[in-house]
Amino acid sequence: MVRTRFAPSPTGFLHIGGARTALFSWAYARRHGGQFILRIEDTDVARSTQEAVDGILQAMDWLELGYDEGPFYQMQRMDRYKAVVAQMLEAGTAYRCYASPEELDAMREAQRERGEKPKYDGRWRPEPGKTLPEPPAGVAPVIRFRGPTDGIVGWDDKVKGRIEFANAELDDLIIARPDGTPTYNFCVVVDDWDMGITHVIRGDDHVNNTPRQINILKALGAPVPTYAHVSMILGDDGQKLSKRHGAVNVMEYEQNGYLPEAIVNYLARLGWSHGDDEIFSRAQLVEWFDLDHITPSAAQFNTEKLNWLNAHYLKQADNARLAALVQKRFDERGVTVTGSPSLAAIVDLYKERVGNVNELADAAEVFYIDLHPRAEILAQHLTEEAKPALADFTEGVKSVAWEAPAIGALIKETVGKHGLKIPKLAMPLRVLLTGQAQTPSVDAVVALFPRETVLARLQRGLG
Ligand code: GLU
Repeated sequence: MVRTRFAPSPTGFLHIGGARTALFSWAYARRHGGQFILRIEDTDVARSTQEAVDGILQAMDWLELGYDEGPFYQMQRMDRYKAVVAQMLEAGTAYRCYASPEELDAMREAQRERGEKPKYDGRWRPEPGKTLPEPPAGVAPVIRFRGPTDGIVGWDDKVKGRIEFANAELDDLIIARPDGTPTYNFCVVVDDWDMGITHVIRGDDHVNNTPRQINILKALGAPVPTYAHVSMILGDDGQKLSKRHGAVNVMEYEQNGYLPEAIVNYLARLGWSHGDDEIFSRAQLVEWFDLDHITPSAAQFNTEKLNWLNAHYLKQADNARLAALVQKRFDERGVTVTGSPSLAAIVDLYKERVGNVNELADAAEVFYIDLHPRAEILAQHLTEEAKPALADFTEGVKSVAWEAPAIGALIKETVGKHGLKIPKLAMPLRVLLTGQAQTPSVDAVVALFPRETVLARLQRGLG
């Protein structure tokens, strides 16, 4: 059974790169009827925060990346790591090293002077026939992994192809500190083993950890998972994705009015492809996702494409759902929905035209607030030429049947009478009713308002 995991360190929010890794791991497990595990790697106590944990869980939830097991917390598994360290000491695959930091600095300095690459020289490493020094009194040792010293360690990376390291290049890794706390790479190994992880999909910033992890897994007699190291994400400008490219925190996209299905679709296509398909559902992603079509080169973020996808999903979204998202923004802004129209009716008319939920909320807000259109926009559209027609139209509003076709007919009839073109009346109507010059079809917008509101706004505009 396929078992994948997402293993974020809670030192900050879930960023776009992390979300994509999580999505790929999730999709791969779902594709193969496997399981997806969430593991919080919180051993960096100084930098890990509960706030970050909450943020990560919230973002996973928002993107609907459901996990079958977890969240597991490494800090709650300390006893297990310590037990494995003890086992390895017992088995001779780990040893105590009493070298002080100063001593190791001097060792590295000497190596550098000889033109060698600095590397732990194995002074406390037990070898057959070698006599080790007497442990110094009162010094707590670190525990080092007794790694292989020759041959190569390699793997067939599902994204990058064959990767190999010479064991001679690798240090005997510290797996536990003098106070007994296990180190990062060691915790990952024990977890991947205990959690039965078959496929490790993660960022390629971990490529250098992988040979170390594989060697420890082998020493433990644990199966070595398949690795897929996903390339990083670059900003629109080809530079490493960072804050200056705009939002990198996934939840900022939620605040900026993006729909989770747009983000999921976008992230899936960011560095992975299925032919020329750009738009696909979560179900199609699960049906199609594979590791073979992840691109080994860095993926470039494209805000325009994300916006295009978001607009696409907004058009398709259910009115009641969008109304609830707009309501949430109203609650933050202190806008109260009263009487008609219903939010769902506004959403239905406007969702075709907006790029995100915040724009939808902006458009919907004007239906409920005491609107005072800006002076400049009024001056531009409420011309002297338009005023008599507008006054006539206002009279007509009192008795016209309250539906878009009849209102449309009244607009035509009024401009006809005054010898004007439709925009001459439609524009000031739009501005007086919504404060904006751009709206959906004007008759539909007028019909959405209650008759009394239209009368009041037009009368106020005519002064
Ligand atoms: N905790 C690591 C990170 O956030 C991921 C480790 C892994 O996937 O093996 O970068």
